[in-house]
Amino acid sequence: MSGINRIIFATGNQGKMKEIRSILEDTGAEILSMSEAGIRTDIDEDGGSFEENALIKARAVSAACLKAGLNDSGCAVLADDSGLVIDALGGEPGIYSARYLGEDTPYDIKNKELIGRLSGVPDEKRTARFVCAIAAVLADGREFTVQAAVEGRIGRQQKGTGGFGYDPIFYVPEYAKTTAEMTAEEKNRISHRGKALEQMKEVLKKNEGFNRK
Ligand code: IMP
Repeated sequence: MSGINRIIFATGNQGKMKEIRSILEDTGAEILSMSEAGIRTDIDEDGGSFEENALIKARAVSAACLKAGLNDSGCAVLADDSGLVIDALGGEPGIYSARYLGEDTPYDIKNKELIGRLSGVPDEKRTARFVCAIAAVLADGREFTVQAAVEGRIGRQQKGTGGFGYDPIFYVPEYAKTTAEMTAEEKNRISHRGKALEQMKEVLKKNEGFNRK
């Protein structure tokens, strides 16, 4: 390979794509979501860690791209897996964050349930982190993974309307607010996904480099 000029990100989530685009924009590579690339695959995320699940997704989409003739030499397929790890619950919901209480259950209900499960737990034991692993599979088969986290505490009530998912209960003491009370820019700057994407950008730059289209 001589430089990456196309990145296909294995997600259908528009919110994630916006964040991904803004962080990877300066690489000059063309950034496509799976659906923009015309790729559809059903992926069984049956790994035992965030990193394993990210790799499973990236490998599956890379194979689908190869089949579709999209995996030319400048193409890198990236995938992420993320979730909320709550120490007082032995790491739950962890890799099951999206599926916790059912994939289609509104987050208002999931968040209330978690607050309820932590009732009586003092502030210093309400520690939690959002974790994000990102895997990359290059056209020549090389694989890379990175992982990053943002530390916080589970609040006693939901606060804020920004972000998504568990953001209204994820309180970041340094900022004295939840990630749902932050602006998108603020959250991107400190977020697990933002940090993991920056790390992956560096790994790809060092190992392969970017090639503007
Ligand atoms: P993924 O899309 O398979 O990585 O699932 C991640 C799940 O973890 C999401 O559906 C959310 O429940 C949770 N999650 C991950 N990142 C965040 C975040 O930044 N804010 C709130 N919830 C998150």
